[in-house]
Formats: sequence, C-alpha cells, structure tokens
Amino acid sequence: MFDQVYSPLQKIEHPLLTNFYVKRDDLIDPYISGNKWRKLKYLLKSAAEAGKTHLVTFGGAFSNHLVATASAAARAGFQSTAFVRGEPVENQMLLLCRLYGMHLIFTDRESYKDKRVLFDQHFGASASAFFIDEGGASAEAVKGCAEIIDELPDDMDLLFCAAGTGTTAAGLMQGILERQLHCELHVVPVLKGGAFIKDEMSAHVKVDQQLHLHTEYHFGGYAKTQPALLTFMAQFASSYGLLSDPVYTAKLFFAIHDLAEKQEIDKDAKIVALHTGGLLGILGMQEKLSKLFT
Ligand SMILES: *Cc1c(COP(=O)(O)O)cnc(C)c1O
Repeated sequence: MFDQVYSPLQKIEHPLLTNFYVKRDDLIDPYISGNKWRKLKYLLKSAAEAGKTHLVTFGGAFSNHLVATASAAARAGFQSTAFVRGEPVENQMLLLCRLYGMHLIFTDRESYKDKRVLFDQHFGASASAFFIDEGGASAEAVKGCAEIIDELPDDMDLLFCAAGTGTTAAGLMQGILERQLHCELHVVPVLKGGAFIKDEMSAHVKVDQQLHLHTEYHFGGYAKTQPALLTFMAQFASSYGLLSDPVYTAKLFFAIHDLAEKQEIDKDAKIVALHTGGLLGILGMQEKLSKLFT
C-alpha cells in the first residue's frame, strides 16, 4: 500500500520569490497525511515482518498521527489501539479513528508519560502487539522521510519544513547528506523553545552547518495560535489555492513569507517547502476560525 505516492512539486507564483515550489505531500492521502505516511511506511513493514497484527500507539486528542495510524492499520489489515492523553473526550479526529476501528484508551497525563510502561501493562503478554511511539518517532520514520529527497530536484538551494519532534527534519537531513546535495535545510519548529529540535535530530543524524533553525515562528507554542497566523493562513489559501493548518504548515509558510520580506532569503534561490499535510488540524480550530471569518 505504500508503494505508490502522488505528491507533485507545485510552482507557486509568489510576489517575493521567483523560484518557489511546494512539495505536495498533503496530497498523498487525506487521512494518512503527509509526513505521517512517510513515517509509517517502514514501521508497518517492520510490524509485518515481525509477524505482528496489532498496532499500539500514543497521541493527544487532536493528533494527526492517531488518524493516520488508524487509517493505515485498517488498510493494511492490522488491528489498532491508541492511548489518548488526558480526560475522555470526543471530537472529529477521534471519530475518524473510531470509524477506522481503532480502540481508544484515555489515559491520565501522569500515566501517559511512560509509554513503554503503559504498553507493557496492557500488552506485555500479547504476541501480536507492536509498539509505535507518539508521532511515529523511530529510525524507520527517519528512513521513510529521507526518501522524500529522492523525489525533489538535485539543485534545490533551500528546503523548508515544519517540525514538532524533528523526526521528519532528521530524515530530510539524512537524505540530503546521503545524496551529498548542497541544499540547506531550514526548519521551523512549531513549539516554543524550538532549539531542542537540533538535539532531537542529532539522535538520528549528523547535524552540520547545512541546518538552519528558525525558532521565532511558534506563535505562542504547540497548537497555540494568534489572529495574525490565521489571517495569513486564509490569505495564503485564497492567493495560491493551498490550504495549510494552524498547528504546523501555516507557521512554515508564514516563516518563509516573513524571511522573504526581510530579504533574509535570496529571492532567486530555488526554494522547496515540504507540505507535511495535517489539514484535519483545521477542525481543531473551527471555533476560532469561524469567529475570525464570519
Ligand atoms: C506531525 C506533523 C509534523 C511534525 O513532524 P515531526 O516529525 O514530529 O517533526 C509536521 N507537520 C504536520 C502536518 C504534522 O502532522
């Protein structure tokens, strides 16, 4: 199921950048979206090779990773279970998980902290259960994300991506280094204090001067937003026909626009932004967005 990928490179007619492209990983699949598809590819292979039939994973109540895992599991013939952080709630994301047959176990924040312990408590005795960390973080995920580089032009000058844990960025760095491209990797952390992304990446890959972190575009932190970001997101969508989500990719596109405006990136450089998908994240901001636009 992971063999065929539809993810074109789309040229954007941007007023400040002459050579700007978006790698449309958001088009790979509506539910196994973007980087989650890349991250799950080799995890599901590992699970199948180990003879496992039941994927067990972890996430918050609005996690793109949970929907992606539920959908991928159903399609590839696995059972799936997720430990969901916090009090029992219902929302559109969890509804999708349930429709795909995922079993949900709500877990208080304290117990949620140690995922291996949780897994062992519930599934330690099960020969069929396969552990997938929160967000899919793993060596397999890095490998899957490194493959994105094979689908991009060799002569890119700058490659941009958003980062939550930095696993995707680590994969891109690995791909760039393995293929000895001159391209710089520009990473936009969506969490506050995003300098930690460098350490997270270092756990997987040699990080060198080709990496540039832009830590000032978090808009208050993870899943935090500000009217300026939402307005930008709407403008970007109506100008280019490209939707982004407020948690990840709107921050990425905002950063690129801002850096271009400040002339911190060369306007003629060949720039690719990786659209990592996650558009269901818009559902989590429905109220805020509706207030702003009605
Ligand atoms: C999960 C997610 C990310 C974060 O990826 P990391 O590998 O954790 O850095 C980025 N963009 C989108 C749309 C996501 O859903």
